Amino acid sequence: MLATPDTTVAARAKYEPVIGLEVHVQLLTASKIFCSCSTRFGDPPNTNVCPVCLGLPGALPVLNRKAVEFAVLAAMAVNCRINENSIFARKNYFYPDLPKGYQISQYDKPLAEFGWISIVTGAGEKKIGITRLHLEEDAGKSLHEGFADSSEATAIDLNRTGVPLIEIVSEPDISSADEAYQYLTKLREIILYTGVSDCNMEEGSLRCDANVSVRLRGEKAFGTKTEIKNVNSFRFIREALEYEIDRHIGVLESGGKIVQETRLYNANEGRTYGMRSKEQAQDYRYFPEPDLLPLIVDERRQTEIRAMLPELPELRRKRMVTEYGISDYDAQVLTISKTLADQFESAAKAAKNPKRVANLVQSELMGRLKARNLDIEKSPISMQGVALSADLMESGTISSKMLKDLYDLSFERNQDFPVVYEKEKPQQITDSSALEKMIDEAMAANPKQVEQYRAGKKTVMGFFVGQVMKASKGQANPQLVNELLSKKLES
Ligand SMILES: [Zn+2]
Repeated sequence: MLATPDTTVAARAKYEPVIGLEVHVQLLTASKIFCSCSTRFGDPPNTNVCPVCLGLPGALPVLNRKAVEFAVLAAMAVNCRINENSIFARKNYFYPDLPKGYQISQYDKPLAEFGWISIVTGAGEKKIGITRLHLEEDAGKSLHEGFADSSEATAIDLNRTGVPLIEIVSEPDISSADEAYQYLTKLREIILYTGVSDCNMEEGSLRCDANVSVRLRGEKAFGTKTEIKNVNSFRFIREALEYEIDRHIGVLESGGKIVQETRLYNANEGRTYGMRSKEQAQDYRYFPEPDLLPLIVDERRQTEIRAMLPELPELRRKRMVTEYGISDYDAQVLTISKTLADQFESAAKAAKNPKRVANLVQSELMGRLKARNLDIEKSPISMQGVALSADLMESGTISSKMLKDLYDLSFERNQDFPVVYEKEKPQQITDSSALEKMIDEAMAANPKQVEQYRAGKKTVMGFFVGQVMKASKGQANPQLVNELLSKKLES
C-alpha cells in the first residue's frame, strides 16, 4: 500500500525528479572472485569459506578469470567502453559481516564506463547513461532473525563473502519512478540474456539502491539527494521513489530543507524512513589494492569476449518480427527469457508455418497459462508441442476445435501436447461415402464457386475444403477430402 504524502498536482508539476540507480548484480561463477570457495546459495552457514575470503593474515587474493569475462560481457551488453587497464581498490569500513575490514572494489579506474540502455517513455525512446560498471566482492550476511537467541544476538554467515558482483551505476538521467522501473526491467532483461547472472532478487542476486532529488523545472543545479537502500523488488523501488519524490516536494514547498541521508523503504507502510545522515557517513579511504595487479583486458581479449555476446533482446525482437512475420507484441512475449525465445525459434524453424506457431502461443497458450497463474516457462505444453499442433492444423489433420480440446487435456493432465495427441488421436472421418455426401452438399450450396473452379480458379479448392471441414466439425480427414474434392470438381 502506498501512503502518498499530501502533495498537490500543481506542486508536482513545478518540480522535476532526478534519479540515479546503483545496481549490484551477482555473477554466476562457480567459485568466488578471489578464492576457490563455492558460490552456491543456501549451503549451511560458514561452510564455503577459506583464509582468503575470511581475511585471515597472510592470505592472498587470486582474481577469478570467469568473473572478469562475465563482467566484460555485461559491460558490453550495456554499451560500455571497456578500460584496457583497471585497478582494484580497497574500500575500508568496519562491519561485522566484513571480516577483512575492507571490501575489494574498483574506484577511480573501473573496468568499464560510458554505457547506456534505452527505454521507451511517453515522449519516445530515451537513453539512460551508464556512468560505470565495476567488479567487486560481496560482503557476508548478518542474520537478525531465525535463531533461538535472535532477540539478543546477530548471527553471521560468511558464505557470501567474496562472491563476485558487478556494480552498475547509472547517470542521473532518470526523471520518474516509472522510468526507473523501466530502466531496471530492461537492465535485468539484458543481463539475463548475457547469462552472467540469474538476477534472482529473492536470493539477493540483484540489488538496487536509488538516489533521488528534485529541482524546479528548468533549473540546472541538482537538489539535495537522498538514497534509498536495499529495496527488494522493482515494484517497491517504484513505490519508494514515488513516495520519496512527493516527500521532497512537500518539504520544499513548505519552506523546509532536504537532509542528505540514507533512507529505508517500509513496503508494509508504503513509506521511507531516515536511517543515517550522509554527513556522518564515513570516508572509505580508498587506496589501490596492493595484493592485486592492475586488471588488463586488452583488445584481443575484448574481441574474444565480444564474440561470446549473444543477440540481445531488443535486436532479437526486431529480427523475429521480420523473420517470422509476427507482431511486436508476439515478439515481446516470446522473448521474455532467452530460453523461451530459443525454444520458440527452434520450434518455429521446424514448423511449416512460424506465424501459426506464434499465433497459437498467443491465442491458445497464454490464456491458459494466465488462468492458472503459470509462467510460460512452466507451461505443460512445450514449444515443440505448439509446433506439432501448428503443423497438424496446417495440414488439416486436426481442427481448431480439436486443438483447443487437446490443449485443455494437456493442461488438465500436465502433459505435453505430443503425449496427449498420441493418446487421444482425435477420430477423423475416413469413410469416403460420408465425405462424398458432405462434398456434394457443399458443391450444391455454392454453385458459383464450382463454376469459378472449373473456369480455372484452382484456389477455390481451399474454400471447399474449408466448407467440408466445417460440415464435419473438423473431423474429416483432410487428405481424403482433398482427393475426393478434386475428383468431383474436375468431373
Ligand atoms: Zn574462500
